[in-house]
Amino acid sequence: MELIFEKSVAGRLGVALPDSDVPGSDFLPGNLLRTDPPPLPEVGEPELVRHFTNLSQRNFSVDTNFYPLGSCTMKYNPKVLEEVAALFSGCHPMTALLPGGHIFAQGSLELIYCLGRMLCEITGMDEVAAQPLAGAHGELTGIMIIHAFHKARGNRKHIVIVPDSSHGTNPASAAMMGYEIVTIPTAPYGDMDMNLFRKAMNGEVAAVMMTCPNTLGLFNPHVGEICAIAHEHGALAYYDGANLNAIMGKARPGDMGFDVIHLNLHKTFATPHGGGGPGSGPVGVKKELIPFLPVPRVVKIDDGAYALEQENPLSIGRISGFFGNFAVLARACAYIVLLGREGLVRVSEQAVLNANYLQEKLKKYYDLPYDISCMHECVFSAARQLKQGVHALDIAKFLIDKGFHPPTVYFPLIVKEAMMIEPTETESKANLDAFIAAMIEAAELAEKNPQALMQAPVTMPVKRLDEVKAAREINVCHLLAQGTGHKARD
Ligand SMILES: *Cc1c(COP(=O)(O)O)cnc(C)c1O
Repeated sequence: MELIFEKSVAGRLGVALPDSDVPGSDFLPGNLLRTDPPPLPEVGEPELVRHFTNLSQRNFSVDTNFYPLGSCTMKYNPKVLEEVAALFSGCHPMTALLPGGHIFAQGSLELIYCLGRMLCEITGMDEVAAQPLAGAHGELTGIMIIHAFHKARGNRKHIVIVPDSSHGTNPASAAMMGYEIVTIPTAPYGDMDMNLFRKAMNGEVAAVMMTCPNTLGLFNPHVGEICAIAHEHGALAYYDGANLNAIMGKARPGDMGFDVIHLNLHKTFATPHGGGGPGSGPVGVKKELIPFLPVPRVVKIDDGAYALEQENPLSIGRISGFFGNFAVLARACAYIVLLGREGLVRVSEQAVLNANYLQEKLKKYYDLPYDISCMHECVFSAARQLKQGVHALDIAKFLIDKGFHPPTVYFPLIVKEAMMIEPTETESKANLDAFIAAMIEAAELAEKNPQALMQAPVTMPVKRLDEVKAAREINVCHLLAQGTGHKARD
């Protein structure tokens, strides 16, 4: 099917607007009036609808295919949650700010409050702030809280320790707050090197920031000890909980000794988030950090009603507009209630089982740098295939031809030619087996016909792009036209 971007033909009409009935042409000052009509595309309604419908069908989504993009938790999101989110479209929590409005906003405020209580129960924290709009935004919020905590005590700590197996946003968030980052390398079993960590710890360290399970899909068995060592030096322990899908109902970061955590509701708690949004990254803290949480905060007042705490002298202040991404909060709340305690435990068990199934079935065909049972995702290396000139990128492109979203490639950075696969709990064994078969086919092609892999994808409207040129001369319209063999609008 052809995809031509220039649809406009002079004189074509989609809608006929009625003549203006705004009285008096002197209504606006003459110098503000257009002399020429705006250069809008001139297309009929059917062409317009077909153009956008065709484009929409080129989207890849978890509603169409398997999407094992490591670290992103692209699980299937039950549609009933969309209905729940829509229920709230008429009662935005901002209503609470109107005079007398808190009476009408009680339902939305209660939802935010109850979600906070449930997330505390799941994570072992004492209080949750729902404002942050993404995981990385939650990290920044958490680091701001840590900074405010030390500042209130007159501490001038300037270092944040991050294992090199942490998500890249961790050092980035700490650096945004002005901290110096000290990176600790990974030991042979996939956890942070404890000797180097002990050496790096001192009174200048404000926090240790860990992604658990880490980006190798492994859970560090020393977390309790790490938190204790941090506390001995007056530092706080931060838990990047974007990978919570691996541990729900099994272990709680608060019980391990962590002081601050962020969650990615859009990942673990089921909001569709392909294409970058919408997100929600609530931050949970232990008791002594509650005063530093962002405002406004939903609190329960004496008569059992809900209100907004607008000010708090120690608070880091407001970190997003409105009260966060409310529709994501609504979906998360409904998801937790829908599954209940036992359901959430089964989610994590199944997510971990699926990842281990893939790991076991594929480890004959691909190098597995850390050959131990994994958590919710597994990380292979295409180092063996590279000997035939085949890169992880070529395998990723081949999977597109097979109808699968590729795994995350070239991340984590500490694994050469990394392929990070997160199947999630929502895939059937049949789907996992089909993906395994495609991965095995790619490994065999790498031996027998590496050229075939290097040409992939061949079945898609956009073929293999010139990635170097794309990075240097970024022009999205031009790239699309190049890929489809059509001329773009200049
Ligand atoms: C996805 C992810 C993040 C960042 O979350 P965003 O919502 O994309 O900002 C941080 N840490 C880990 C471990 C992640 O997987």
